[in-house]
Order: sequence, then structure tokens, then C-alpha cells
Amino acid sequence: MNELKLSGLTKFFGDFAAVQDVDVTVQADEVLCLLGPSGCGKTTTLRMIAGLESATKGCVFFGDRDVTALPARDRDVAMAFQFYALYPDLTVGQNLVYPLQAEGASPEEAADRLGQIADILQLSEVLDRYPHQLSEGEKQRVAVGRCVIRAPNAFLFDEPLSRLDAKLRDEMRGSIRKVLATLDRPTVIVTHDQLEAMTMGDRIAVMRDGKVEQVGRPLDVFERPANTFVAGFIGTPQMNLISGRCIAANDRELAIETAGHTISVSSDPFQTLPPEGAEVTMGFRPRAAARSAEGISLKSAKVFLCENMGAETLVHSDWAGQSIRALLQGPGWPEGQAHDVEVSEVALTLFGPDGTRIRRKSEQEAA
Ligand code: ATP
Repeated sequence: MNELKLSGLTKFFGDFAAVQDVDVTVQADEVLCLLGPSGCGKTTTLRMIAGLESATKGCVFFGDRDVTALPARDRDVAMAFQFYALYPDLTVGQNLVYPLQAEGASPEEAADRLGQIADILQLSEVLDRYPHQLSEGEKQRVAVGRCVIRAPNAFLFDEPLSRLDAKLRDEMRGSIRKVLATLDRPTVIVTHDQLEAMTMGDRIAVMRDGKVEQVGRPLDVFERPANTFVAGFIGTPQMNLISGRCIAANDRELAIETAGHTISVSSDPFQTLPPEGAEVTMGFRPRAAARSAEGISLKSAKVFLCENMGAETLVHSDWAGQSIRALLQGPGWPEGQAHDVEVSEVALTLFGPDGTRIRRKSEQEAA
């Protein structure tokens, strides 16, 4: 089956660039999540793929076929929106097979596919019910089922879980993932929820202000974010990002000054070094912060909030005027006290003056 390719895809509303130069290819058996904050251009990108929005520049290809100029009805994509509209007078089963009947599938074919989809989405027990007799989660599953029952050129989902409560979302992520694994078509899911993107996507495209900041497998984006924006957007609790100035960068040492404190690390692991005097950012995940570690120490961080998260405590401290989050096993540190937050050097991520991550030599070796 064919891949979906976006090439230089751009959308202007007047002189406002909602989507700019998006280049990404989604393989036939791949799920790509478009992830980013509200207004970054995710839905507009999806709508351009569907043909519901015209592109100002750039192209959409299904395989080798340029479909940019085709209207939505001629693109043969299946799309599920956050506001699912089920036909109220049709049963679940009828709702599900409706798209198949509309394209002339035989009754045997329709019954076969209905059985498969109902089974995966756990709807077999409710096939004879009407939409008003369903829970929200069931309705959402019917909407997803109706979308995936056909075999179109591509599947597009816009915030498929946004209307569900946390528990149902957890359940639905699994169901959708299962059903997506059976589809041999490029699939694009729009979400602003990074957990959804991490769990449902084979790859994630992180967007900001209409542009794609990084495309990668979930773990790659988490472990090797392209820049400070991606680093801050992916991961809960959010990565700590401490800004400072490089005061020494030589073959032994990299020293960074921040609000009167100097942090020194070995320069050896990094492929390049920032010039002395450059603004840099040090990042580390809250989970990497420890009571004691061989590495850097943020001395006397003052604890101002402890959030009990069950087995762990998220401790917020003020260090040199910057807010630091540490996720600690057990009860954490008492509020009001000062503690040293320690981080091993391998857990440090370093970003250069333009916010781009400085690669480690180990990445070069691994590549
Ligand atoms: P959300 O997560 O809130 O749905 P999004 O990432 O999907 O956001 P889009 O809906 O693609 O964002 O919108 C991108 C930008 O384009 C926003 O600033 C939005 O206000 C703007 N925009 C979208 N549609 C139009 C339109 N028809 N006319 C003018 N501006 C628009």
C-alpha cells in the first residue's frame, strides 16, 4: 500500500502562516502523531491532507500521486473527529457498516469486517443498541470503528480521545493502538497530549508555530530532543531547563555560570562545545534528580512545594532564581528547607545558544 508524503506543505490565512514547510512521509503501516500546543497548526495540516483545506504551497502525495488539487471527496481518506457524529436512528452495527455499504461492499464482506472491528474494539455486545444507549467510551469506540472499517488511502484522527475522562482515555489508548496495528494504511493522529502521542504513535512530529520541530520515534524524541522546545514539551513532569552562560569550554571542562553559581562538567562527551560567552541551557529530567549522585550539585535549592504522587514526590525548589523539579522516591524533602539537588553528568542534556541540543559523541558512535 502507498505511503503518505507531505512536501513543503504550507498554509497562510491572510498573511498569517498557520503551517509552514512541513516535510514528512508516513509509511503505509505507520502511525504518525502530530503533537504540539494549541494553535501550532496540527488540525490545519490534517485538514490539508484530507482536502478540507487548500494548501497555499507544497504538496500532498498518496504514493506517487499528487492529490494536492483534488477535492476531499476524491481523496478517499477516512477521518474521525473529536466530536463524533453517530447516526442516532441506526444501531451500533448499522453505524459501523454504513461506510462499507456506502462504497458498495457485499453483505458478506461487511459482516466479516464488522465482526473483526467489533471484536477488537469490544463492541460485540452492544451492536444492537442505539447511540443514546451507549456510554461515552462506547460512542467513541463506535466512531473510531466507523472510521477504520474501510480501507481508504489514509486514516486521519483529530484528537480522538479529547472528550473522554482520564480513565476512559487510558482504556481507549490501548483499544485504538490495537486497531491501528491491524491497518495497513498511513495514519495520522492529531493530539496535544504527549502521553497519547508517546503511546499511540510509531513516530511523533512535534510542531510549534506552524513548523515541525522534530520527527522521531517516541523514545528518541524523549531521550534526544532536538531543542529546548521539544525537551520542555515531551515528558511529564517537564524537563528542568536551566539557562546560563558558558565561561569555559576546553578539551577537559565545560563551565557554565548561572546567577553566581558555576557548574562544571567534563567536555569530553560532547561532539561540539559552545563558544565561551555563549548563552546555553542545561536540561535534566526530574526523575534524574537525586539526593546524591556523582555529577553536578545544585547547592541549597529551597523547597517551596511538595506534590505527593503516591510512591514518589515531586519536589519543586528554587535554585538561583530558577524553578527546579525533582521526582524523588518516598516523601521527598520538607517544604521550606534547603537541599542540594544532584544530577549525574550522563543525565545532563546541553543546548547551545540557538536552543539546539548539543550531541554526544556516543550518538556518533552508535550511528
Ligand atoms: P488546537 O490544538 O487548539 O486545535 P491546532 O494546533 O490544531 O490547535 P490549528 O487549528 O491548525 O491549530 O490552527 C493553527 C492556527 O491557524 C491558529 O492560530 C488558528 O487560529 C489559525 N487558524 C485556523 N483556521 C483558521 C481560519 N480559517 N482562518 C484564520 N486563522 C485560522
